[in-house]
Amino acid sequence: MQLYLTQHHCSRGVLSQFLNAESDWRWCMAGEEPCQVCQEPHSSSRPAGLVFAAAADPLAARPAATAADHLSEETALQVTGPAEVLIR
Ligand SMILES: [Zn+2]
Repeated sequence: MQLYLTQHHCSRGVLSQFLNAESDWRWCMAGEEPCQVCQEPHSSSRPAGLVFAAAADPLAARPAATAADHLSEETALQVTGPAEVLIR
């Protein structure tokens, strides 16, 4: 469920991974309504042995992310300490 909710991998593919035998794992293909992650259907079938997994480093699961994305995300998540939530 966590893997599905992270939206880092094809939603259809994640469900398929849990519901089907490995030989039947699939992802969004032409002629299907693509999921929100894919948005565009794949033109080739899912490669055998491609396992969707939650990585320890969430950025590692997003190969499309650029260095700029990495920086902006780190900045957005930066916590400076208790002072930021204290009312002066
Ligand atoms: Zn998909």
